[in-house]
Amino acid sequence: MIKRSKLFKDFQMPIIGLGTWQATDEIIANAIQTALSVGYRHIDTAFNYNNETVIGDTLKKWFDQGHKREELFITTKLPHIGNRPCDVSKFLNLSLEKLKLDYIDLYLIHIPFGFYYDNTTLTPAIDENGYYVLDKETDHLAVWETLEKEVARGRIRFLGLSNFNETQIKNVFNNAKEIKPAVLQIELHAYLQQVNLRNLCEELGIVVTAYSPLGSPGAKEHFVNKYKYSPETFPDLLGLQIVKEISSKYNKSLGQILLKHLIQQGIVIIPKSGNANRIKENFDIFDFELSIDDINELNKLDRGEEGRIFNFLFWKGVENHPQYPFKLPEKN
Ligand code: NAP
Repeated sequence: MIKRSKLFKDFQMPIIGLGTWQATDEIIANAIQTALSVGYRHIDTAFNYNNETVIGDTLKKWFDQGHKREELFITTKLPHIGNRPCDVSKFLNLSLEKLKLDYIDLYLIHIPFGFYYDNTTLTPAIDENGYYVLDKETDHLAVWETLEKEVARGRIRFLGLSNFNETQIKNVFNNAKEIKPAVLQIELHAYLQQVNLRNLCEELGIVVTAYSPLGSPGAKEHFVNKYKYSPETFPDLLGLQIVKEISSKYNKSLGQILLKHLIQQGIVIIPKSGNANRIKENFDIFDFELSIDDINELNKLDRGEEGRIFNFLFWKGVENHPQYPFKLPEKN
């Protein structure tokens, strides 16, 4: 008999949220205002995105116009540098302060591994050879137990996991003392459809959130510039012929087709955009249904593990962490 999260029956999470990774403060402030005005009530951020302050300022203005805190669903994440019980309340305090909120709706363990950090800058410690200094003692159950106490204190409503693999999810799910994970946030798009993890979550009663639902077109520039990745390794889901054909058939944009493919299967999505038209477009996907045949055509695009963009190998040495979650790419 599977025990569902004891909070699960009360769990309400808008199926579309606004992603906020990778945008300047000015763009984010405008994006949030636009999103709220067209009906988004769910925002995804993280300590790691360095944007919680501007999000908090923008939300405060919205509340000052008479809106209530309960209208919104705000997700943020415990960073990998804080992935140890003694750091949980410190990083949660920082997020609450910056967001100017009394509680977080959904708090995720962002990444299953842990790094040491520089206490002055709150950034990962890096050794003289450019390797990130790994905290190999990461203990998910101990972190989870501390998070459960924060729920009891009323500072978090729901808890979840991000970037965890099957073994890691089962470990937390089976051993959590008080609260089961409510959500798993993972990279999920047409090239990486995560069928196994979706099935596991279905069985365990965990809601799946897709990050990078459009294949993260903006990540290409970031990874090529910052980490010298080859531009060819990035997917162009919005350029795929089958997506174009389905888009013409329904008279909907390419992005709308990719997003509808996910929400129609019950997957929560958090597309990021800093552009007012695209923010509206990404939310305007409730007035049509894809046929089963078209869903099946899009399902065929799945490349499994080869479709993954975010393997975190840009953090030099991270694959040596015992909790590194993914299968490593084969070396040529
Ligand atoms: P994404 O949402 O798949 O793609 C965002 C990119 O697509 C931006 O460059 C955006 O550009 C563009 N775009 C947005 N709507 C579009 C449309 N309708 N047509 C064409 N282009 C469009 O990728 P993502 O930002 O990587 O992922 C979404 C969110 O997931 C993030 O922002 C973040 O909140 C979260 N995330 C979580 C993790 C994690 O480890 N848990 C990792 C990555 C991301 P414009 O801004 O110019 O519109």
